[in-house]
Amino acid sequence: KISLESSQIRPLDETVINRIAAGEVVERPASAVKELVENALDAGAGRVDVACADGGKTLIRVTDDGHGIGAADLPMALARHATSKIDGSDLLNIRSFGFRGEALASLAAVGRLTLTSRRGEDAARIAAAGGEIGAVRPAALACGTVVELRDLFYATPARLKFLRSDRAEAQAITDVVKRLAMAEPFVSFTLRDLTGGGEGRVVFRADAETGDLFDALHGRLAHVLGVEFAENALRIDAEREGLRLTGYAALPTYSRGSAVAQYFFVNGRPVRDKLLIGALRGAYADFLSRDRHPAAVLFIHCDPHRVDVNVHPAKAEVRFREPGVARGLVVSALRHALAEAGHRASTTVAG
Ligand code: ADP
Ligand code: MG
Repeated sequence: KISLESSQIRPLDETVINRIAAGEVVERPASAVKELVENALDAGAGRVDVACADGGKTLIRVTDDGHGIGAADLPMALARHATSKIDGSDLLNIRSFGFRGEALASLAAVGRLTLTSRRGEDAARIAAAGGEIGAVRPAALACGTVVELRDLFYATPARLKFLRSDRAEAQAITDVVKRLAMAEPFVSFTLRDLTGGGEGRVVFRADAETGDLFDALHGRLAHVLGVEFAENALRIDAEREGLRLTGYAALPTYSRGSAVAQYFFVNGRPVRDKLLIGALRGAYADFLSRDRHPAAVLFIHCDPHRVDVNVHPAKAEVRFREPGVARGLVVSALRHALAEAGHRASTTVAG
């Protein structure tokens, strides 16, 4: 006779679920910074300020001047799988950075988080620590949103042990901020290191660029990657079967000893994608020796239905519906630009 009385299988409680999920979304301080800055950009911010201390382990603070969150929505902002960015069930039609509604819930589960925001006339604040969420209280804030995250992973000590040195974590944060700064040249960014207290030290600062998109991007790249990159960069602007490729690719003479200066963005989102890296390498194959790596910052824009960004919670991967078209576009556009530049150079020398 079977007994149905004492079930051994029980659902996990919400706090545990959030801590497990947090491990997927937030690997290290830099992933927290990425999520928070992306939220600021999704909110239409014109200015994003990031401050960190001790490699982001003790403090991460992201301040923006975006549209903010109404007081009544603050608890929802911290709830798991709650988002304002996706309507209904169309997972394929994603135009914002966020969409999973997991970041703030995860951060609230593994650290001490304070979310202060203003929408319209009223500003309010909600705090959470280790998954315990407090009440909404009135606050003072001129505009936008401030998210402060202290003691990341204090609630999950096992994860804390896997973090690298403060220096390495701070470097990863700088990389994340620079990458997003390249994607959004019309937005001002600052990154400050508050280690040791006081005003802190400005690690990175980029004022909003002006002009058309290419001018703005060129200015931003000169700022982030250096004037030398910008001076050696060819403008890329091509289209194939509804996929548009824009950006800048450096002359072969500006190549690097490693693949450090290769940045790809798909629909504005920074990605690390094998297909695109391979295509870039392929395009330069005739121009570079094997131990040299091209430098390029490339943006692909297409209808969201033609690319799946839902591959991984950290969202660095994408999957093109027609990988051959994406690859072909990159290879042909870059080869064309390089050949033209080579031709220009040789006619200048001849003339
Ligand atoms: P997602 O970004 O996937 O929606 P998050 O957990 O990162 O999930 O954020 C939850 C919700 O909180 C967002 O959908 C948004 O409505 C709100 N939110 C978070 N950060 C900001 C911000 N800086 N400015 C305005 N709204 C924000
Ligand atoms: Mg988000």
